[in-house]
Amino acid sequence: MTTYEAIIGLEIHAELNTKTKMFCFSANDPDEKHPNINICPICMGHPGTLPTINREAVKKVISVGLALNGAIAEYSQFDRKNYFYPDLPKGYQISQYEHPFVKGGHLDIEGKRIRITRIHLEEDTGRLIHDMAGGATLVDFNRAGVPLMELVTEPDFRTGEEVRVFGEELQRIVRYVGASNADMEKGQMRVEVNISLRPIGQEKFGTKVEVKNINSFKYAADAVAYEITRQTAVLERGENVAQETRGWNEHKQETFSQRVKEDAHDYRYFPEPDLPPLRLTAEFIEEIRRGVPELPAEKRARFSAEYNLELGMIETLIRDRALADYFEAAASEALQHDTETSEKPRASVTKTVAAFITGDLIRLLREASAPISDIRITPENLAELAVLAAEEKISSTAAKQILGEMFSSGDDPSDIAERLGLWQMSGTADLESIAARIIKENPKAVEDYRRGKMASVQFLVGQMMKQSRGTANPKIAQEIITRILNQEL
Ligand SMILES: [Zn+2]
Repeated sequence: MTTYEAIIGLEIHAELNTKTKMFCFSANDPDEKHPNINICPICMGHPGTLPTINREAVKKVISVGLALNGAIAEYSQFDRKNYFYPDLPKGYQISQYEHPFVKGGHLDIEGKRIRITRIHLEEDTGRLIHDMAGGATLVDFNRAGVPLMELVTEPDFRTGEEVRVFGEELQRIVRYVGASNADMEKGQMRVEVNISLRPIGQEKFGTKVEVKNINSFKYAADAVAYEITRQTAVLERGENVAQETRGWNEHKQETFSQRVKEDAHDYRYFPEPDLPPLRLTAEFIEEIRRGVPELPAEKRARFSAEYNLELGMIETLIRDRALADYFEAAASEALQHDTETSEKPRASVTKTVAAFITGDLIRLLREASAPISDIRITPENLAELAVLAAEEKISSTAAKQILGEMFSSGDDPSDIAERLGLWQMSGTADLESIAARIIKENPKAVEDYRRGKMASVQFLVGQMMKQSRGTANPKIAQEIITRILNQEL
């Protein structure tokens, strides 16, 4: 039996989050619900109108190119890609053919380098809405002319998992540089997978199948896995894989044939006569380079070295640049406080901050479906809570409760602890009196302890926690209980 390897490449489109469209001044508002509002004679392709280039869109696509180590072309131009479709009012799409803004580049994922072929800038099409009830197809041109970045990779992927990891990292990068919101469910980022199989050891590529319209990188990985199985079966039957475009059905977890490719399309590309070629100066490119922020990979390495956090926590924090910034603001406050007041190791308080954010805080934000930018807890207050917890002035149960209160009220954690009586009892005198009472009330547990049942201590500590409504310091409570029991023996 032949063993096959999969050769996989990607084409990824991302709508850029500029204020206006690519070649006119119509608003670029992906949340506009009313159809055909954000349009003008230019993006509708009326005769006699002239396009102009959106400078912000050019800067955004170049910043993505720089983030991916690509070469920025000093000379670039726009071309017309001619074809007819009802969602394309001009009868052609302005795109880039021979002279894209970015050539080459790479992104390293889990020790493997994925090479980027090119990144170019073009315009999006309108949107067709199939109105099943009315039996008609409607068209909304709000999206027509929105700046669209297209990124093409070399066929460097071998598995669906590599596709997923690459795609999710790319999504983080375009968000970090502020180029696109890259929400795949809203179609702001779209992925196409090209996949073929060849016997291991063979140089020549097999027949390529394209899987289009996949709206998550998880599904892209699933589609790749499905295609590998399907194409392997076709080849093992001695048949040929058809060159075709397939779609992904996420419910059935399978790809399905959309159309068989007979010929390569001839789009009759030619230089866009209404736009001048662009010559980018070194200063212009440098200015954009200075604006590229710390990227996810750099942040990941720094968070590990600087804060000594676990990988899972780091991944959660860096998923969103604003969340990572919020963590750093709170962590630096906590460290400052920590060095002033305590001799605890510095790492523990930043870990506590990270644990609050990646645990309860993210859950609270999700439940409120609010972004981190809307949070009412200041980084200072979160830092204070972490210090109180690290210094054991509040118990972990109390900390959770206080965090919930802070989330809804935005209040200071000390005020909340005071108001709700949640200060942890570490004072030996208070705890001793509770312990004495608990021991008196539970003669059976004391008797069990005398007979050698050590679990009785845990039971008695549990009773203390209950009576103190969780404010007893469990470590000290256990010491006291053990001491009293041993005295009584
Ligand atoms: Zn327009």
